[in-house]
Amino acid sequence: MIKMTGAAAVGATVLGIPMGAEAQNNSINGTNAGKRRLKVLAIGAHPDDPETCCGGTMCLFTEAGHEVVCVYLTRGEAGIAGKSHAEAAAIRVVESENACKVTGARHIFMSQVDGNTEVNLERYKEMRELIDRENPDIVMTHWPLDEHRDHAICGILVMDAWRRLDRRFKLFYFEAMSGTQSQMFHPTHWVNIESVLERKHEACNCHVSQHMDEIYEWHGPMEKFRGLECRCNAAEAFMQHSDALPTLP
Ligand SMILES: [Zn+2]
Repeated sequence: MIKMTGAAAVGATVLGIPMGAEAQNNSINGTNAGKRRLKVLAIGAHPDDPETCCGGTMCLFTEAGHEVVCVYLTRGEAGIAGKSHAEAAAIRVVESENACKVTGARHIFMSQVDGNTEVNLERYKEMRELIDRENPDIVMTHWPLDEHRDHAICGILVMDAWRRLDRRFKLFYFEAMSGTQSQMFHPTHWVNIESVLERKHEACNCHVSQHMDEIYEWHGPMEKFRGLECRCNAAEAFMQHSDALPTLP
């Protein structure tokens, strides 16, 4: 099913969650049973991934009063030419903290290393325990079919945690530099980010070391293209991992 969502529309939802005045009175299931602030995790492999891939959606959630937590799998240790891992990590942690001030998200840094992320029993456990502890309603992370190994591994770790935690939160994948990094990404959900586009870009630009103008040679057209698909000027797209267990006909 295709869902087109945007905070600009009356009664709009973002990834199925009512925004605006209704936000505080609705649970994730669309009932009034919850009457609580929802928690959304955005889990990216590197500093700048959550902001570039779902920064607008994060801003919409924080503006609606929901809690957003930005989880960075690594500190981007390999991401600045000419800097040691320690130097790059120190710079990128500060850039991420600045970006989170713009999006209104809390931040968590995990212990993996940029360019050398691992999938093993210990790493599965680490991700599962973090998500279990945070107990989110929604998680957004990398679509695992991605040519960047760290992105693919991040998506796989989160997908495993979702399954092991009995699929108790909604899992949405986001795209990163589609075509060159994310592959075969076919959205199920679109989010209109027109109203928060400037704020998203401000958050992205906090990652000064990452030459955001080059990253936006991809993400700029992606925002416009996803917007064209859902009849607005700028959008982010997501693929939901279906909650439904497969059944035989
Ligand atoms: Zn990345």
